[in-house]
Amino acid sequence: MTRTINDIVIAGAGQAGARAAEALRARGFKGSITMIGDEPHPPYERPQLSKAMLQSAGTSVAYIKRAQDWNETLDIRIETGAAAIDGDADRRVVATADGRSFAFDALLLATGTRPRRLPALEDAQIEVQYLRNIEDALRFRRHIHSRSRIVIVGGGVIGLEAACAAAKGGCDVTVIETEARLLPRAFPIAISDLVAKRHRSHGVAFVFGATVTGSSSRAVTLSNGTEIAADLVLVGIGVTPSADLAVRLGLPVADGIAVDACGRTAAPGIFCAGDVALQRSRCHGRAIRVETWANAQNQAISVAGNMIGESREYGDPPWFWTDQYDLNIQVVGDMRDADRITRGDPDSGRFSTIAMRGTELVGALSVNSAKDMAMLRRIVAADARPQRADLESPGYDLRAALKT
Ligand code: FAD
Ligand code: NDP
Repeated sequence: MTRTINDIVIAGAGQAGARAAEALRARGFKGSITMIGDEPHPPYERPQLSKAMLQSAGTSVAYIKRAQDWNETLDIRIETGAAAIDGDADRRVVATADGRSFAFDALLLATGTRPRRLPALEDAQIEVQYLRNIEDALRFRRHIHSRSRIVIVGGGVIGLEAACAAAKGGCDVTVIETEARLLPRAFPIAISDLVAKRHRSHGVAFVFGATVTGSSSRAVTLSNGTEIAADLVLVGIGVTPSADLAVRLGLPVADGIAVDACGRTAAPGIFCAGDVALQRSRCHGRAIRVETWANAQNQAISVAGNMIGESREYGDPPWFWTDQYDLNIQVVGDMRDADRITRGDPDSGRFSTIAMRGTELVGALSVNSAKDMAMLRRIVAADARPQRADLESPGYDLRAALKT
């Protein structure tokens, strides 16, 4: 028998949780919605933390909505500063660390991810920080404005956006990266080189093929034996799914919480969306966690409908952007192990690289070519199959690919 959905609980008041809550009301859900979040703030989007927030001392956080608007306008209860730490999937209840219980007919797990820790810097004397929340961004900003010497561990998106902000702020910046080049899984070599070159032209130094193995109060030691003086170490070496609650609920958890295309977990009435969800990606040919702003919004909106009886499959291809100096880089789908076609002239600073496996267009990357990317996203999403020869032709209008 189909259960009537009166009470919905959302664990995790981040972007995915907030967008799902809004979507429930937008679709006419009249029952109770309670969002439980362990941060002391109403929901906000994180891209600002490594971009606008670091640029100027006066920039304040943009919240998705003010706390009272959730309550007064949408009749959504937000419990901030409350961690959902336990639950019972059969009895349909979750419990917070402060001892309260919340019964649900449907539960959304939107607990996101947290930074992967670097064991070599646990209990270090030197100042160490990560970059995930508002407090982290404010702390890093203070260092930028006092022109600290900054070592960044990890040349991923966090490390590079932080390096960009710090270099523009006049800091002495060194990035340590274990791989031989930047973002090898997301970027072709030419793009890794282009990004590294742009950073170097702003004074950022790189050490590749190394990591931090130790520290003193004013320096870090690298695996290659080098010592680098620093006032602050920022660690950005990836994330780990926040799935403890799912484990307590008895859900199978691997590198995330497995969901089907509708966002359903293995337990009836329990759904999942955002960074923590392990979902199938056609472009990748396997299940992955999609750690992007677009997924946190769009998957959550889609899953919200399914919590109240719709049956809508979500299959948007993964897409993200990063802004560094004058470079806007966007990536859709999967660029690895594919043949590549370049559109536009890389020397002009505006071009796209398209990834094909056989006849399938599985991914694309654009540099300062947002218009191309808008079409490429639609082409990948539609699984359209433009001819390789057409894509190689400089005059080919990408819009035609959607008509084939
Ligand atoms: P989260 O944002 O992690 O939210 C989950 C929330 O749940 C958090 O507040 C967490 O504290 C809380 N929580 C966890 N466990 C519990 C619990 N048990 N009980 C209660 N609350 C809990 N993506 C892009 O595409 N482009 C960008 O430019 C970009 N920039 C970024 C910059 C930074 C600095 C960061 C950190 C991320 C960036 N991202 C970007 C990624 C994007 O922000 C994430 O994909 C998105 O935030 C995921 O949303 P989410 O709601 O799934 O998870
Ligand atoms: P990433 O996974 O993007 O990058 C981490 C980088 O650090 C990888 O290149 C990794 O190499 C390297 N690394 C791992 N371990 C070490 C080590 N011990 N020493 C040196 N380097 C190491 O993670 P981030 O931390 O940059 O980003 C975290 C989250 O924030 C992600 O969810 C991301 O999506 C999100 N984000 C997105 C942004 C965007 O899209 N613009 C901007 C900022 C953040 P290896 O791959 O070999 O492990």
